[in-house]
Amino acid sequence: MSSAQGKRSAGMAGRAVWAAVAVLAAASAAMLWARQERGQGATAVLWIDGAEAATFSLAPGREEKADLHEAYGLPMHIEIKDGAIRFYDVACPDQICVATGFISRDGEVAVCMPNRAALTVVDEAG
Ligand SMILES: [Zn+2]
Repeated sequence: MSSAQGKRSAGMAGRAVWAAVAVLAAASAAMLWARQERGQGATAVLWIDGAEAATFSLAPGREEKADLHEAYGLPMHIEIKDGAIRFYDVACPDQICVATGFISRDGEVAVCMPNRAALTVVDEAG
């Protein structure tokens, strides 16, 4: 008798576990959906000499400034703000890169020919 009782309670515990798993799965699916719906913002790619040197998240609310001299030997700075990215404080003769300003949409480009550097934006959501 005691063994049958043990089996029954084990079965109930099993059902409780499965119910919890189902709830968790539904919750994580809902979170995933919400995340995709809201989007994580775009990604900026830094190109140097035609090669991908770094990527930066342009997630909303993220702010970052970087000096590219230390990492890449380029007399340039980049700023990330409000889901956009730009070159600033760049040592180059034409300043076209700086004049481009912030870019944030899929396919937008900021190029600095003298420094052989470019920023591009990739946004899966378009
Ligand atoms: Zn430039």
